[in-house]
Amino acid sequence: MSLTGELVLQNNNVFANLIKNRKVELIAAAVFVLALASVLIFAGYGASSEPITEDVSSAEQSAVPESASADGYGLFINGQFIAACSEESALADAVFAYGESYVAANAPDDGAEYSFLGFSDEVEVKNGVYPGESFVKASELGSLLAGGVSDYCGKDLGFELTVRFSGEYSVTNVIEYSTENVYTDALKAGQSKTVVAGVDGESVDTYRVTFVDGVKSEPELVSSDIILESVDEVVEIGTSSSDTRSVASLGILQKPYDGILSSTYGLRWGRLHAGIDIVKYHGSCKDDPAYAAADGTVSFAGVYGGYGNCVIIDHGDGLQTLYAHFTSISVSEGQEVKAGEEVGKIGMTGRATGYHLHFEVRVDGETVDPLLFVEYTE
Ligand SMILES: [Zn+2]
Repeated sequence: MSLTGELVLQNNNVFANLIKNRKVELIAAAVFVLALASVLIFAGYGASSEPITEDVSSAEQSAVPESASADGYGLFINGQFIAACSEESALADAVFAYGESYVAANAPDDGAEYSFLGFSDEVEVKNGVYPGESFVKASELGSLLAGGVSDYCGKDLGFELTVRFSGEYSVTNVIEYSTENVYTDALKAGQSKTVVAGVDGESVDTYRVTFVDGVKSEPELVSSDIILESVDEVVEIGTSSSDTRSVASLGILQKPYDGILSSTYGLRWGRLHAGIDIVKYHGSCKDDPAYAAADGTVSFAGVYGGYGNCVIIDHGDGLQTLYAHFTSISVSEGQEVKAGEEVGKIGMTGRATGYHLHFEVRVDGETVDPLLFVEYTE
């Protein structure tokens, strides 16, 4: 009876578990004493003294005088007698030490910590009466087990012990931070601002590999621990039109007067009509209020040549609006106005043939078609 892959005692569970879990030799030694006691109590001398007839060849058996026999502990591997020791714990320690020395000599030098797990062979320790010459010092056992296993006579038993050992190693991984984009019109399109700087995190994965008969298993992930959480980066992305003068910004201006067009932007009578003329749908727009097309600052308020009573509002970014032919002006230079605020009463001062609001949009001092910014029907 044995447990495949584990070193086996008569009370094999205790020993197998011990081999598996053994961390400190002192603890192992203590458990062995308990194991020994249990063997003595439960196994009984007489019942377990069969090995001398069962596992030793008849030739060797006959060569050993009965008087030279002694009670002890025989080591059997795969059912074959190797040698005997007078102390069970010394024998077991020697077998364990062989396993450990094998690991020390054969484990790869890759930084992992390897430890002895056990043997794939059936290893048993049996209490019994053994030939005197089969008794060896525990310290001599290792040489019988190393390489091809041989018995106390030096006879090669034709196999090698298969040692199982495992090792654990850790891999540190970078957890790359991700980036969250927050869109805002507080920034112009094309501009961005890092609000929270990203920080990479770190995780440690621990893998275990097992060697059986020199063959390495696939690494098995034992644990994965995050030792540093990553911090996501937050970036504000501008959505505000980067150029308020573009067609894309059509509609950013309010109508300065809710009417229809009597004249559009472009050449008229051989010269550029630099704005649009707005009149009432029905009837006269005389003295109707005209309104600021957007927030801004009044940069001019007064008589301006053919424009008559004229107001110019500066909206920033090189954008200006101009309102002409007022009967009277309602704002003054330097005044800040809000979109929709009255700037003057519609009239026909300056060069005008009838009541209308002449409205211009200027970008960097150059007039552009106001219909890029406001919607009117003709
Ligand atoms: Zn006009």
